[in-house]
Amino acid sequence: MQEKWGIGNFGQPIDLPIFLFIYLSAMESPSKLRQPHLLISSEKIDRRTFLQKSALSLSGVSLLGSLPFSSQAEDLNDYPFTLGVASGEPLPDGIVLWTRLAPKPLEGGGLKDQEIEVYWEIASDPEFSDIVQHGTELATKDFAHSVHVEVAGLSPSSYYYYRFKTGEVVSQTGKTKTAPALGSDLAELKFAIASCQNYSAGLYTAYDHMVKEDLDVVFFLGDYIYEKASGANALRKHLPDKEIRSLEDYRIRYAQYKSDPSLMAAHAAFPWIVVPDDHEVKNNWGGDGPPYDDNASFLQRRSVAFQAYYEHMPLRKTSIPEGIAMRVYRKFSFGNLAEFSMLDTRQFRTDFACSGNWEENCAARFDPGRTMLGEVQENWLTENLSQSACTWNILGQQVRMAQVGRKMDGTIKYAADSWDGYAATRNRLMSSIKDNQVKNLVVLTGDSHKNWVNELRLNPDDPQSEVIGTEFMGTSISSAGDGKEFSDIGLELMEINPDIKFYNEQRGYVVLVAKPDELRADFKVMPFVTLPDAPIHTIASFIIANGIAGLSPSNRDTATTVAQALV
Ligand code: FE
Ligand code: CA
Repeated sequence: MQEKWGIGNFGQPIDLPIFLFIYLSAMESPSKLRQPHLLISSEKIDRRTFLQKSALSLSGVSLLGSLPFSSQAEDLNDYPFTLGVASGEPLPDGIVLWTRLAPKPLEGGGLKDQEIEVYWEIASDPEFSDIVQHGTELATKDFAHSVHVEVAGLSPSSYYYYRFKTGEVVSQTGKTKTAPALGSDLAELKFAIASCQNYSAGLYTAYDHMVKEDLDVVFFLGDYIYEKASGANALRKHLPDKEIRSLEDYRIRYAQYKSDPSLMAAHAAFPWIVVPDDHEVKNNWGGDGPPYDDNASFLQRRSVAFQAYYEHMPLRKTSIPEGIAMRVYRKFSFGNLAEFSMLDTRQFRTDFACSGNWEENCAARFDPGRTMLGEVQENWLTENLSQSACTWNILGQQVRMAQVGRKMDGTIKYAADSWDGYAATRNRLMSSIKDNQVKNLVVLTGDSHKNWVNELRLNPDDPQSEVIGTEFMGTSISSAGDGKEFSDIGLELMEINPDIKFYNEQRGYVVLVAKPDELRADFKVMPFVTLPDAPIHTIASFIIANGIAGLSPSNRDTATTVAQALV
């Protein structure tokens, strides 16, 4: 059941993930699904009840019959798939399948030291009547009983369904999709960017809307967890309710976030490509330390934070941390249409310019000896871009690339944590894109908890300077709470920085559709996230035409109109 990767097939709605179906059968009422703690509360799902009910609801489907039983059922007295399933790293012939066995996710997982065999299978249909591959993976305590299956030998541009089993228990079903064949013609790629999901600040309603989109892939651009204790006004209390530092702490925090049914559903619905930002370790960290030193053993903390990140993400084994290092910069191609260079702007950067906050135009910003990407990654990126044969050359990364000055204390200041603090690296990148005639540069960014559209100039201080590309910055899923449509700050920023074409402070995500002739970005926002069931709407759309850097001229007028209407 292979479907070609093209326009004609995108009208097909994504089914409600089958795992919801299973859960709804196993639980008493659908409303309980909205309660994040249900799955891990004391009313744990009795395994036999779960099996009876799920088998009942799936009667007629040879669910369990196709799965071999392992001898380790006695180790799993509670439902182990409390954190759902996920897929990621789509290649034309492969995908990563993820799950973690955690019958007691908020108590460290609930498993002892034993190794547990996890059976997996991947099929071309949701009923698993056409299983294309299967196998077993060992879940060990070293990786918190997570499994990362690297499936190869699949067909390009194809939907697949997958699930896991251990003991007698079967996981939810996830749906995923492989990338198109390398270099092949592709009529359309539809994807979303998301970032910044502070669990204590708001609900994950955005994902309830996202699962209804017909996306090929989701990019998560950082701040998957937040490391702090919950604030006094926390909507949902962080666990453990303190700043996390140990591996055990980070594991519990990930488990808490991933126990959210809306987030689980979004992972089960699409393949994800993820990169971390600062809060997966510590606020505003960079290189070997945070900008302010409150912890002598920062590198030890960074290594356990990386470890927990890998354990909970559908990453390839090439991203397994080695000590304090983790490889997350990598490239993805979708036919001849789009190439994504996923960047790591944290691990290899030199220490902050000036004092590390909003600063005046200090000389260190332009010091060519300071770096945002490190030499190896910068060379890798430059090579990717100069050799790309794809129409759209896209960077997926963490912090704002566009220069943004802000009037503070009577002077213009720049954020040292963003690319403004590493202007020399940005200048080198922009020059190399121009010199190598890289087509259609689009930068996708998270971090700021706001929606922005920024045009990137060769020299951001010269309005006559050439536009090199466009940056779409996506707002947060929940961080910073409800947000607002209108902001005086937005007006002020756009006055000082005319290359900002759009600014908004509501929560949501951005859907992008790349086609051979144009790329469109729809900014989707919600009026609130501190109460359930917020509706979502597209507040603004922007178009880039193939071959014209920056917003298309007609769209630029529209953009300005939209921006003016907002302010
Ligand atoms: Fe954030
Ligand atoms: Ca951040």
